[in-house]
Amino acid sequence: MSSRFPNITFGPRSLLYSFRMAKSHYQAPRGTRDILPAEAEKWRAILTAFADLASRFGYGQVVSPIFEDVGVFLRLGENTEIVSKEMFTFQDKDPKTPQSLALRPELTASICRAFAQHRPTTPWKVWYEGPQFRYEKPQAGRFRQFVQVGAEIIGENDPAADVEIISLAWRFYESVGLKNISLLLNTLGDSETREIYNRELYSYLLDKSDELSDESKNTLKKNPLRVLDSKREEDRQVISDAPTIQEFLNPEDKAHFDLVCDGLDSVKIPFSITPRLVRGLDYYTRTTFEFVANDLQTAQNAVGGGGRYDGLVEELGGPPTQGIGFALGVDRILLACESEGVKLDYRKPLDAFVVDLTGGSHATQIADELRHYGLKVDRSFGDRSMKSQMKVADRSGALYAIIIGDDELEDNEVTLRDLRGDGDQVRVSRSDIVSGWLDIVKGRNSE
Ligand code: AMP
Repeated sequence: MSSRFPNITFGPRSLLYSFRMAKSHYQAPRGTRDILPAEAEKWRAILTAFADLASRFGYGQVVSPIFEDVGVFLRLGENTEIVSKEMFTFQDKDPKTPQSLALRPELTASICRAFAQHRPTTPWKVWYEGPQFRYEKPQAGRFRQFVQVGAEIIGENDPAADVEIISLAWRFYESVGLKNISLLLNTLGDSETREIYNRELYSYLLDKSDELSDESKNTLKKNPLRVLDSKREEDRQVISDAPTIQEFLNPEDKAHFDLVCDGLDSVKIPFSITPRLVRGLDYYTRTTFEFVANDLQTAQNAVGGGGRYDGLVEELGGPPTQGIGFALGVDRILLACESEGVKLDYRKPLDAFVVDLTGGSHATQIADELRHYGLKVDRSFGDRSMKSQMKVADRSGALYAIIIGDDELEDNEVTLRDLRGDGDQVRVSRSDIVSGWLDIVKGRNSE
């Protein structure tokens, strides 16, 4: 069979064949979803609140590529699940650069790569927003594409930086209106402390491995710290008797942690010290934290987390540089807002909806003129009846309808009808729509 498309054949194995044979109703891929206009308004509100707050804290935005050389993420630790199991990887098409690329599973590594590449002055205080990709088993609050906002301070070891980062996240939840969030805080010590602890924990868990679940036995071989993360009933007793990192901290680790706790107390941010808090990524040293939405009734109730990573920039080819940051999950923040009953409807209604009974060209001009003056305006399309256009105007939620029919056209006027009050209407001259409108808005605002 010949094809209308050059270079594309239509045979049982061709791409085109599978397109034709595929179901005609496509769905968003598993673990992803469409954010439709009503929900997207809430997203925008959340993202804007974060951007405003981060800028008030003195952070600048970084926009980095959605995919990176896979090596950037391998630096997160090959035993880290998001690296070993969950990355979406693909090959560069250019045979001269046989590079493996990966959709980013998180952004801290990209930010550290950007730091190592551009060498900005420190402390580098930056924020970001955007989609991340992890090939996880989808469930409530867990997606394969999800959006995070986050912030990092790179090149600063002062515990005050830890306090500032945690405060930025905390104040953000507050500004969104969430009230029932808990901050869990821990320290993993410096890399030496962590290594000693890892060894101790490993031999303790190995001793008890008969009592552990099969999954935890497996995890133990790769990463003993992650066993502490298990929520399985069989593991509970072994985990609760396990040695804690606190017993192994050196005096500098302790002093750092105490200063972080004092700093949080001084700005009245409540926290619970959680000695068994381990986070999914291997790179953390010293301060680690997680934010939990207590009203979220799903297994996935962590709405954010982060910590200090004092070796990552160096791993990515930069100078030895300390850093601390967090990432917050926007999808779950929205779910938490729903379960706490936080209203996130920031939508400003349409000021006006133009109903044109003369063909549509006047609607084009009037809408353009009003939009130019900053009003939020929509119009209908097609040569529809007054009744059907008014129905759309009403459904649009607009405050006023601006109606132009043959009578109005002859008198060079329009009819302004109040759609939300008692349906009053007045005729105003075409040339007065903008000034008349602005008077109405001024009057409304001063009420
Ligand atoms: P992480 O980068 O793993 O430290 O995650 C930080 C935050 O991102 C978590 O607390 C969640 O709120 C969110 N998050 C992580 N993974 C997912 C996912 N698969 N789906 C939705 N949100 C996620």
